[in-house]
Amino acid sequence: MKMHQVSDSCFAVINEKNRLCDANSGLVNTGGGVVIDTQSDLAHARQMISMFGEVWPAMPERVINTHEDADHVWGNQLFEGAEIIAHRSVPERMKQVAEPKESQKLLRGVGRFLTRLVLKNLHPGLEAVGEQLLEDYNFDGIELVLPTTLFDARYELNLDGKEVHLIYVGPSHQVGDTIIHVPGERVVFAGDVLFRQCTPVGWTGSYEKWFKCLDLLIELNPEVIVPGHGPLCGIEGVKEMKAYLQYVRDESRKCFDAGIPSLEAAKKIEFGPYSEWRAPARLYMNVERAYREFRNEPPDASWDSAATFDAIYQVAKVKGIEAEF
Ligand SMILES: [Zn+2]
Repeated sequence: MKMHQVSDSCFAVINEKNRLCDANSGLVNTGGGVVIDTQSDLAHARQMISMFGEVWPAMPERVINTHEDADHVWGNQLFEGAEIIAHRSVPERMKQVAEPKESQKLLRGVGRFLTRLVLKNLHPGLEAVGEQLLEDYNFDGIELVLPTTLFDARYELNLDGKEVHLIYVGPSHQVGDTIIHVPGERVVFAGDVLFRQCTPVGWTGSYEKWFKCLDLLIELNPEVIVPGHGPLCGIEGVKEMKAYLQYVRDESRKCFDAGIPSLEAAKKIEFGPYSEWRAPARLYMNVERAYREFRNEPPDASWDSAATFDAIYQVAKVKGIEAEF
């Protein structure tokens, strides 16, 4: 993890590994201090707090959760007494998708030799994701702490004269997707509507919605964007990700029309210029999402996470690369 100064009063902590759970955090160090997203476990959250402490020594008075996913909310409990702001949908969704018990069980299981062996046979992808997470994360002690201030379309903060705009853009990647725009400093904290140099994944929402959201990011014309995952960028990062999603949707359409199932399609579709991004086999999720849309399924249809990780694992094997999530 490294802290970067993004503008006069905006900072970012970037998780360079850029794999699953390696989410970024932000800070606006004025008007009481606002932290954006709180990391995937308590150790990472503490490290983030101590890095931001170099430029904002007090405990921040506010936290913003850009959406409901675990890797953005599992450090919330360390901000005792802080106002936690998120989209109205986030508390209920957090209970559905960020309940820590299953993940705690997985990492404990993978940590045991025998359980690991059994799991490897049943769900090689789930076992592999557990092993990967175990390298960097420990989910023990995490308790779900829900947002305290909820908003619908838009929420504005005035931090000693500095405007901070929270704009709801979901569901693109998740139901609660929110971007944070600091217009006076031309900075956007994008949460997971933007992945940089790693393969994007989306759980809820549609391609159309995601494209609209990326267009909005370009329209805001920021100088620096802090993506939810990956290094800092300008609008070129947004354009690249949009091109990726367009490519995957077009290729998926061809396979869908040819009657090829989504997993087979993901094995067949070339990574192309995106093979250098982290976790390229996460492509499977983007193909499956496209298929769901072609079949007119609801954008909030749920995912079987074991089957999903197994599918990603299979795509990686067929492509002859190491399974990475
Ligand atoms: Zn994330």
